[in-house]
Amino acid sequence: MTNEQLRQIRADFPILTEKIYTKDLIYFDNGATTQKPRCVVERIEEGYYHLNANIHRGVHYLSQKATEAHEAARSTVAEFLHAGKREEIIFTRGTTEAINLVATSFGEAFCKAGDEVIVSVMEHHSNIVPWQMLCERKGMRLRVIPINERGELDLEIYKSLLNEHTKIVSIAHVSNVLGTINPVAEIIRLAHEHNVPVLVDGAQSVPHIPVNVVELDADFYVFSAHKIYGPTGIGVLYGKENLLNAIPPYQGGGEMIQTVTFEKTTYNELPFKFEAGTPDYIGSTALAEALRYVQCIGLDTIAIHEHGLLTYATERLFEIEGMHIIGTAKEKSAVISFLVGTIHPYDIGMLLDKLGIAVRTGHHCAQPLIDSLEIPGTVRVSFAFYNTKGEIDNFIVALKRVVGMLQ
Ligand code: PLP
Repeated sequence: MTNEQLRQIRADFPILTEKIYTKDLIYFDNGATTQKPRCVVERIEEGYYHLNANIHRGVHYLSQKATEAHEAARSTVAEFLHAGKREEIIFTRGTTEAINLVATSFGEAFCKAGDEVIVSVMEHHSNIVPWQMLCERKGMRLRVIPINERGELDLEIYKSLLNEHTKIVSIAHVSNVLGTINPVAEIIRLAHEHNVPVLVDGAQSVPHIPVNVVELDADFYVFSAHKIYGPTGIGVLYGKENLLNAIPPYQGGGEMIQTVTFEKTTYNELPFKFEAGTPDYIGSTALAEALRYVQCIGLDTIAIHEHGLLTYATERLFEIEGMHIIGTAKEKSAVISFLVGTIHPYDIGMLLDKLGIAVRTGHHCAQPLIDSLEIPGTVRVSFAFYNTKGEIDNFIVALKRVVGMLQ
């Protein structure tokens, strides 16, 4: 990416020129949520100003236009993930709701006492708790893949956990704490040898890595719009058609039905069977806009730029005495978790904030991982394509100053 391209991209994100306590904002909390380009916000505005009517039900012009836009957004998402069919794309409220949907509906259809679910130690709470709830409901067991000292999954132990009781594997494509890019194709291949389906949590991968759900042979793949420059409150569940057809609806209500009588209700076909109630039809079109924006820059260009930021920031962080980087996997996304000496991560985060720098501190909703590492949490910087090496230079100056104050 040339400097001129980067300048133009940054100009698309008005928030990047904000001052925080009179300092230039440096936004390094992209793993939590990304900033929104003008085109996404304008799409939302256009939706509410010019295209707003409830979808799928109306015979009138606006309703039809809004329906067309929502369904076109579904096709955009399907193309983005390279899904075989657009009906395999279900709009949810986000990654969390998508995982809850699968844990509930798949659990209802296929799981019983004594069965097992495999997750990994590096999962976000949203890929642990729904499975734990399923295990409690059904009398099942949660099995956990550990990691090595670099923060990579132990595939040998994973292989040994797969057995005739395993009902599903649910795994992050990219860890939100360690940045590890997990070998999901291999994980899926191994599970399929046992006829076990795999859900991939793509919350931290889709903004950074091209994803092809058919090539991966993923059974379910989920992500949140707000982490890929889209709006909050909407996300995606991709599921293989045969699996989505085999599991019951998650919620009941309007839209997901074919016929309703007090004696019996029949359910709508895919994807509507899983979309009870009025969907976020403005959010879906804004998500599609965000995906087009990302594709316009190109995920390959994004990956090269972000990898450059990762390498540069990692090198420069080691200028700081007592620097301990948590997560040094060979395959790593642009996320760096670190600690400095015995300084509490929260103190570093608080003082960086006063200098206009947004980082995340704490357990990052991955408490079991942080506990297993026996640390109080980490400071996490997570980059997006609009971040620059100049911002990293300023961050390093600020961090040196903060560490000096706290030591
Ligand atoms: N999974 C991972 C790996 C995440 O990083 C996150 C959010 O940080 C989630 C799931 C939950 O996403 P959401 O809160 O958008 O549902």
